[in-house]
Amino acid sequence: MSLVVQKYGGSSVASAGRIKDVAARIARRLATGEHVVAVVSAMGETTDELIALAHAITEHPEPREMDVLLSTGETQSSALLVMALHAMGVDAISLSGGQAGMRTDSVHRNARILSIEPKRVRKEVERGRVVIVAGFQGHTEDMDIATIGRGGSDTTAVAFAAALQAGCEIYTDVDGVYTADPRVEPAARKLKDITYEEMLELASKGAKVIAPRAVELGSVYNIPILVASSFSDEPGTLIHGGVDMEGFNRVRGIAHDLDVAKITIRHVPDRPGVAAEIFEPLANAHLSVDTIVQNASEDNLTDVTFTLAKNDLARALPYVRDVARAIGAKDVVADERMGKVSIVGTGIQTAPGYAAAMFKALSAAGINIEIISTSEIRITCIIPEDRVADAVRALHKAFELERAEAAELTGG
Ligand code: ADP
Ligand code: ASP
Ligand code: MG
Repeated sequence: MSLVVQKYGGSSVASAGRIKDVAARIARRLATGEHVVAVVSAMGETTDELIALAHAITEHPEPREMDVLLSTGETQSSALLVMALHAMGVDAISLSGGQAGMRTDSVHRNARILSIEPKRVRKEVERGRVVIVAGFQGHTEDMDIATIGRGGSDTTAVAFAAALQAGCEIYTDVDGVYTADPRVEPAARKLKDITYEEMLELASKGAKVIAPRAVELGSVYNIPILVASSFSDEPGTLIHGGVDMEGFNRVRGIAHDLDVAKITIRHVPDRPGVAAEIFEPLANAHLSVDTIVQNASEDNLTDVTFTLAKNDLARALPYVRDVARAIGAKDVVADERMGKVSIVGTGIQTAPGYAAAMFKALSAAGINIEIISTSEIRITCIIPEDRVADAVRALHKAFELERAEAAELTGG
């Protein structure tokens, strides 16, 4: 019998009613003769609420204790979903991430998955049970609970699908991956499929419909991932490794992110080793930096600008100020009202003109670009936060993303 790993996100299990709906959905799937393992997120905004609660107690909660606290969100929804299945007469059992066999390193709140040993999951499945795994968490070598970063239930689901050699389905509150966030651009169009490469770029630049690490794992283990709605039976979007025939030579989608802060170190002495001196302490503090630019040097002094998540700004600034002092830079300025918008598509690497078209569309909308960065298949502009939604809509229109792709028109 085949096995499918499903994941239900926060909005899919946000209330008792929603949890019952998910149980019914799982029961319908069982009726087709498949085994189901389901990974659940915490109910609704529970994770955010738990974080706020901890901060109401202390400004600097200990990361290990945060993980004990945050993991309870997923524990709660896993038990409730099993109760809903039992009430429908379906045999099921909940397992914490650790019980299900997920081992992680001990970088609390942002742990990496070291291995998955799904012995217990397999045993329960063989007994005919539905297994509900609490997402987002595993056990360290010392049997401490560690969480694997925001959006980590997506990653959990793909990791279990890989370990169990099962299919993988991510259920959320939209019925697939769209050409832009449909909440920002109502004309956004659902994609039938998308490559890992393109989805990874969109996800890592803010399209939160699936976590980037989940896409990465899917690509490494070659697990096709279906993204679909838990609220409807509409066909979803398949993320896979095949050639993207229909998207050929086009911008596939637009990602945006409002969670951007910018730090500039002004008048940095331009000598070998200085970049390492700036970024090493941040890396050691597990602060991840996104786009980095260094302006052309004048009088052997340069400005170094980089972006990071808004939440990391307060923690990063003391390190940056210390380094700036140590290397003899003039000062440090920060701005947390930034955002970014990206266009993604394999077409970008083969055809010229995408960058110019993007800048032209933004300028026509009166949007000032502060920083530009690119990959082979992506162009990202850092812009003021309050213009991000306008930018998404302007670019969606400029690249005609509301227009159906040729293969869709022919039903191919
Ligand atoms: P879950 O709680 O199921 O994990 P998320 O809120 O993390 O759900 O992700 C789903 C949301 O992602 C959608 O409600 C949508 O607003 C947003 N989103 C952003 N970009 C896209 C996109 N390109 N396609 C679909 N949804 C997107
Ligand atoms: N509950 C966690 C979060 O909000 C994990 C997840 O939902 O994927 O980030
Ligand atoms: Mg999510």
